[in-house]
Amino acid sequence: MKSALGDLAVAVDAGGTNTRVALVARHASAPPAVAVESIAAFRTERDYDPQIERLVSVIATARTRAGDHGALITGVGVSVGGRMLRDGAGVAVAPNLPAYEGRPLADDLAARTALRVRAAHDTVCGLLGELRYGALAGEERCAYLTLSTGLGAAIHLAGPDGAPGVNVSIEMGHQLLDGATRLCLCGQTGCLETYVGGRQLELRYGEPLAALDDPLVWETLAEKLALGLVNLAQLTRVERVAAGGAIALARPALLVELQARVNARLRNMTLRIVPAALGEQAPLIGAAALLETDPGSILN
Ligand SMILES: [Zn+2]
Repeated sequence: MKSALGDLAVAVDAGGTNTRVALVARHASAPPAVAVESIAAFRTERDYDPQIERLVSVIATARTRAGDHGALITGVGVSVGGRMLRDGAGVAVAPNLPAYEGRPLADDLAARTALRVRAAHDTVCGLLGELRYGALAGEERCAYLTLSTGLGAAIHLAGPDGAPGVNVSIEMGHQLLDGATRLCLCGQTGCLETYVGGRQLELRYGEPLAALDDPLVWETLAEKLALGLVNLAQLTRVERVAAGGAIALARPALLVELQARVNARLRNMTLRIVPAALGEQAPLIGAAALLETDPGSILN
């Protein structure tokens, strides 16, 4: 893998279950394209310190591999399965990785590797990946949605003046729906995620959502998620949503169904729902894109 720019980024996608590390090269074509070379994939360590040790070791491997390509590492971008502290240096809330909360992940990796390290919530990384290289390229008002164990989203709002705008993760799954009475894992009652989150549905029905073939479950999921998407459009004025996450990516027909239900409800504006073009690599590629993104444009 040879970078047109002569340098490479190390991208880390540290999710609640699995961690992936890759070298990412940005090719300055029009539109820009990326090349991804996998370096490692492993189960995310539940404890924080062993995860840092492992990442430091894998980043050293990535550095050696970059050297083999005659390239330098420009920095490390980390996609984290949790909400970040306001300063972006560490993790604030990570329901699947509680041992990481309050720990300065970006600062610790920077100190141990002597590389520039940027970290962001996985929804923000997915958004940045799709904005630069995928289904949201050129969009001024758009969102990235991830539907898997939970429901997350990040929105991008910018003007037509070329300014970087703002990128922010939002609690898409924890908006309240009228008449909803289920207790959510977050502690609120009536959250959208109680109808669409893979983990909550698995707890309710006793088997993984992907294996559930009860049409009523899927119809209810589509109806409730459509309500959430209409709310999203009305509250943020986004016009295009790229949908990623295991459940959305495995069910293209779900997105068609969502589009029809959103069209039937939404007035005075339109919302286009498309699959994430980078698929499950969106957060990984977006983690590398973090290094090229104005830090001031990301609100943690
Ligand atoms: Zn909730």
